Amino acid sequence: MAAGGVTTGSAPPAPAGPQAAPADGSAAAPSASHTQWAPQMSLAEAGIVPDWIDATVDPCTDFYAFACGGFLKTASIPPDRSSWGAIEIVVKDAEDVLHDALEAAAKASAGDPTIDKLGAYYAACMDEPAIERAGAAPMQPLLDLVAKVSDGTTAAAAVVALHAEGVFPLFAIGPQQDFADATQVIASIDQAGLGLPDRKYYFENKGTMARTRAAYLAHLTRLFQLLGKDAAAARTAAGEAMRVETQLARLQQDEVVRRDPHAVYHRVDRVGLETKLAPSFPWGAYLAALGIPDVTKISVHDPAYYTRIAALLKTERPAALRSYLASVVMRSMADDLSKPWVDEAFAMRKVLDGVKELPPRWRRCLRNTDRDLGELLGQSYIKTRFAGDAKARAVELTRAVLAAMRGELDQLPWMDDATRGAAKQKLEKMAYLVGFPDKWRRYDFEIKRTDFAGNVQAASRFELARQLAKIGKPVDRLDWGMTPPTVNAYYDPTLNELALPAGQLQPPFFGARFHPAVNFGSTGGGTIGHEMTHGFDDEGSQFDADGNLREWWTKPTRARFHDATRCVVDQYARYEAVPGVHLDGKLTAGENIADNGGVKLAYQAYQAWKATQKPPAQVEGYTDDQLYFLAYAQSWCDKATPEVLEKRAHSNPHSPPRWRVNGVIVNQPGFGPAFKCTAGAAMVPGKACSVW
Ligand SMILES: [Zn+2]
Repeated sequence: MAAGGVTTGSAPPAPAGPQAAPADGSAAAPSASHTQWAPQMSLAEAGIVPDWIDATVDPCTDFYAFACGGFLKTASIPPDRSSWGAIEIVVKDAEDVLHDALEAAAKASAGDPTIDKLGAYYAACMDEPAIERAGAAPMQPLLDLVAKVSDGTTAAAAVVALHAEGVFPLFAIGPQQDFADATQVIASIDQAGLGLPDRKYYFENKGTMARTRAAYLAHLTRLFQLLGKDAAAARTAAGEAMRVETQLARLQQDEVVRRDPHAVYHRVDRVGLETKLAPSFPWGAYLAALGIPDVTKISVHDPAYYTRIAALLKTERPAALRSYLASVVMRSMADDLSKPWVDEAFAMRKVLDGVKELPPRWRRCLRNTDRDLGELLGQSYIKTRFAGDAKARAVELTRAVLAAMRGELDQLPWMDDATRGAAKQKLEKMAYLVGFPDKWRRYDFEIKRTDFAGNVQAASRFELARQLAKIGKPVDRLDWGMTPPTVNAYYDPTLNELALPAGQLQPPFFGARFHPAVNFGSTGGGTIGHEMTHGFDDEGSQFDADGNLREWWTKPTRARFHDATRCVVDQYARYEAVPGVHLDGKLTAGENIADNGGVKLAYQAYQAWKATQKPPAQVEGYTDDQLYFLAYAQSWCDKATPEVLEKRAHSNPHSPPRWRVNGVIVNQPGFGPAFKCTAGAAMVPGKACSVW
């Protein structure tokens, strides 16, 4: 079949119009420049990658294979990555841009404190001879803390000291908006301290879990050997660490349980921890060591957990506790040490992710710089990759999708008026951050050109202090949870806010000159609509307009919402991630609801937007509605190793790319008409799930 042809499109493309164009740039039209499209565009100019399409596949039978088949047939995963596709192409572009910026910054002092700081950090990370000379020495102070453990009291003291250094055995602490009062930031203590991707790996045998568990034990053994233990002693220590971790895993909450905010929010407060739940743990010393001695308002994920781990510290053999704590230290620092440690950390990633080769040092250093100085690094990214009217276009798209949700709320048949009013209020209050922060963060810690591991520790301590300093202060809605080059986006239900980093607003997802149907399909549906729908998914819907965990739904409407959600849960549970490993319909429910709602709402948004514009450009072989769905699907063209696909199925709430496309397409009312599919085709099965 001819390139660009679609099964339904052997006839000339249907005209995209006719649309009544407003005589002038009426107020409804978001911006005048959008009306200046060339009448014709090539597929590539429109923002679709022609070579990724497999025109031999009928889009009505398998839309993913149609949109991405060309890509899947020819692409190969680079040996130093675990997947390759649209996302990684943007990631790689950001890496290349930032690599140049960092190399230049590292060479000479620019007299600019931002650039000098980045340069010093990156230079220290790239200085392999210095890192080899340091060996494991940077870890020694933490291991010395662990060596002092001789009973329950000294074990608790070691936990306190490690947390103060940003290493988190047993549990972790951070700030959280109080679910009951979203104007307040309180302390949140949550389960932590496992080395495998999910608690299930410690005692279940699905897929390759048993093999992965054995590989992890071998990895811990080798870490203890690197520490200087002989083979037998290393095996013993690894076995003890594994036994402690397995106990913790059994005490920890399952990720599906944790999707219920009520399950992870318990305002026991400091008094509850000190007098009832875990009086043997030195909470006063703990909070003082973290620099927050006066904090009293504390939520814990599960009160019983703290009673049990306090008991574990008292009853477990001190040698086993030392092994566990040492293993947490080694796992958290191995990447910052000399080559044998880096190689060993990578050996475990190989097992979990199927990646074949260690990424080059510069890429690892770039990732560290993004983690530790992200908003400094992001500034050079913004200059080269988010200039011009990109931000204005993205804001315009966001408004259009929000408007479509407003329209949807007006007509949803399953929602009663009381709930509808509250839902509209939530939408009105939903805030959005686009591209990059209005005000860049500061990084007030010392960076030494000669001490990479020290820089990482300084950054980690600084970030912990910055986070904990939020406790007791008013909520800052302008603080970003992702750095500008990040190719991702998020919705925070406690802030009722979505954030779209510049990294996500790039080709092939988004282009200021792309065909509008493409921007609406990929960024409007896949990103903005997706994140916005999270505000109304099974989890987000439990928070009100202000971010309070409060039931604002009437009982009958909530019951109908549950039924609609169950349809999605059952649908995705039928899909396989890799042969023999099914998706967890409950774990992935929120993301699947967001995918489905996002694509549906942005489609409506596009139709409404189009009605206010001159006819959009025509693209040979495709109608604009077809381009919409094609753009969404191509944003998920991706090839991943079987290892990473299986790992995500066990531990990640997102469905794999194939199902993020086909699982969504079968539920889209607009898809069948757009591709003129006959009813009953695989992509138009007749029975659809619909939440939003
Ligand atoms: Zn999501």
